[in-house]
Formats: sequence, structure tokens, C-alpha cells
Amino acid sequence: MSPFTEHASLKAHNSFGIEAQARYLAVMRDAAELPAILGDARVRELPLLVIGGGSNLLLTRDFPGLVLLVQNRGIELQGEEDGACRVRVAAGENWHGLVMHALEQGWYGLENLSLIPGTVGAAPIQNIGAYGIELQSCFDSLEAWDIDSGRMVTLDREACAFGYRDSLFKRAGRDRYIIVSVTFRLSREPRVHLGYTELKAELAARGVAQPTPRDISDAVIALRTRKLPDPAVLGNAGSFFKNPVVDEEKLEALQVFYPKLVSYPQGNGLHKLAAGWMIDQAGWKGRALGAAAVYEKQALVLVNRGGATGADIAALARAIQADIRTRYAVELEPEPVWV
Ligand SMILES: Cc1cc2nc3c(=O)[nH]c(=O)nc-3n(C[C@H](O)[C@H](O)[C@H](O)COP(=O)(O)OP(=O)(O)OC[C@H]3O[C@@H](n4cnc5c(N)ncnc54)[C@H](O)[C@@H]3O)c2cc1C
Repeated sequence: MSPFTEHASLKAHNSFGIEAQARYLAVMRDAAELPAILGDARVRELPLLVIGGGSNLLLTRDFPGLVLLVQNRGIELQGEEDGACRVRVAAGENWHGLVMHALEQGWYGLENLSLIPGTVGAAPIQNIGAYGIELQSCFDSLEAWDIDSGRMVTLDREACAFGYRDSLFKRAGRDRYIIVSVTFRLSREPRVHLGYTELKAELAARGVAQPTPRDISDAVIALRTRKLPDPAVLGNAGSFFKNPVVDEEKLEALQVFYPKLVSYPQGNGLHKLAAGWMIDQAGWKGRALGAAAVYEKQALVLVNRGGATGADIAALARAIQADIRTRYAVELEPEPVWV
């Protein structure tokens, strides 16, 4: 039986709910299937797009090649030493499912990243982060199919070159690797990360003075549920823009005109500017261009109110970028991957 579906709809495979077609679609349930799928004469010469949960993708057109859905499963404890454990997780596992499983097993470190949509295999692509923690803090290594060499490779943290919503896979390694598993180094001792003001406030409001990892996860889930639209109800890809990073001089220059500008010191002379605040101040919250709109409760989130195309979302994003450039002389970089 052919592993490919031809002219397949991708609507169910992107959280914006955008209608676009793949010339060919295949599902990978086991990494061992990769050589046969990729080597098939029908797709060998065509471009490849890997999709996990499709929650960080903007599909601006039909895809003229092979879309590979990564759906392999499995979570395996590999060993324990010095109060830490190594856990190998198949790329197709659901991210939040892993966070919940880890809590049940007493493997700590992922709690702040509760409820982020998508798969484990996509988490290294933008070094997912939330509530003061990034994937890289628990990352050990990953296994990936290297399309250039046609073999499996193991990449450690250094090789992945993680940055703020950034990694090798968004730069020099873009379109080169299919991640098939990620190995985490997690703590057996409950340690909590409370660096984020909003998280501390939520725990205080819940009357939790000595939070456990479970309390952190519960608080993060409550905060996210209040703040972010559910893609099943209103198509979106979470934060649409990264927070721009500027130096001290630029920050001070902006503060002359915008004394209330929200910024976060990075400790190295650099400051992250709250992109959501700037977009909100520029009057974009709730505004729409056709069916593409800025979410009413959070200006950093673009939504599909129904029937928006990728081009509609892209046009709205570009209009916001141009306005922010004019007002603040700052460049907003989109977070989702545009295809
Ligand atoms: C409501 C909402 C809230 C969100 N909140 C956050 C947040 O707090 N923090 C955050 O960092 N992100 C957040 N996101 C973005 C998104 O959830 C993450 O980026 C997530 O890791 C994407 O996973 P995915 O499987 O859906 O990736 P996809 O959208 O399927 O893919 C994203 C990119 O990764 C590539 N890719 C996917 N899987 C693989 C693989 N196995 N091998 C190689 N390449 C692969 C794709 O080709 C694409 O370039 C949010 C999204 C939504 C909708």
C-alpha cells in the first residue's frame, strides 16, 4: 500500500486552521520507515516539510512537495545518577502529555512549560520557553535523520546552538534534520523555578506559599487558559512575534518618548522589549484585516476568525511590523515558521 496521500488537506494539521494542500502527505510512525518514505521515487526530488502538531506554522500557500507528519511514540527512562534521570522521548509524543507523565513519575524540570501545544520533536526547533524556563535547561541531546548525509545523527546541546526562540534548526540546519527523539535530563529532586512575576502572583492568589512542581504546573495551566485562545476554538499559533532585544542605548532613547515602555533586563547589557505592549499601545488589539485579527485579550496573538488564508495572516503581520518600525524603529521578528 502507498504511504502517500495525494493532494491532502493540511487544515487539520496547522493550529491556525488554514486551508492549504500538500502534493503528498505521509505519516512517520517509526523512524525506521524514513529511508523508504524519503527514498520513494515520487517524492525523492521534491521539497520536504515536517509537521508535528502544526502549532508554530504559518502556511502561506499549497505545499508542492512531501509533508511528513511525525507521529512516532514512546517514553523511555534510560538511567539515573546523582539525583537526575535521562529520559528518551519519541518526537511524535505530545509535549503537554510528556509534562504530565514526567510529573507523575517524579521527573522534575518541565513544569513551567505545561500546556504548550505541539510535539516533543518540535520543542528544540525554537527552544520552547514559558514562565522563565526554556527547553535547553532540561535538554540532553536529540537524535535526527540528517537529510544531507542520509543517516541518523546525535546532536548535543552545544550542537543545537539554542537561543531565545532559536536554534540551529531555524538557521544553518533549517530543512536539514528530521528529529526522531529527544533525550531530557530531569531532576529527581523537586526544584521549583519562580522567577516569573505573574507566576508568583498566581501562586499567591491560590494561597500557595511553598509550591510543589505540581502547584507550578497547575498555576501555569490556569494562567495560560485565561490568557491564550484555544486553537480548537479560534485558530492561532500562540505569540506571533518574538520580543525584540535591544541594547541599553536604544532602550534609553525609546524611554524618552515612551516612559512606560515595558522591558526586561537580560543581565548582559541587553533588554527584551515587550512586543505585546508595543502592539497594544499602537492600537492593534482587536483590529482585523478581513478574517485575520489581533486577539482582543492579548496583542501578541494573531487569530483566524474563520476562513482566513495564510496570505491574510501574513498581510496583517506585515502591517503590524511596518507600524512598529515607524513608531519605535524596532524590527518585529515572527515566531512561527512561514512556509
Ligand atoms: C496557543 C498556543 C500557545 C503557545 N505557547 C507557546 C509558548 O508558551 N512557548 C513557546 O515556545 N511556543 C509556544 N507556542 C508555539 C508552539 O506550541 C511551539 O513552537 C511547539 O513546539 C510547536 O510544536 P509543533 O509540533 O506544533 O510544531 P510544528 O508547528 O508542527 O512545527 C514547527 C516547526 O518545527 C519543524 N518541526 C516540527 N517537528 C519536527 C521534527 N520532528 N523534526 C524536524 N523539524 C520539525 C516544522 O517543520 C516547523 O518548521 C504556542 C502555540 C499555540 C498555538
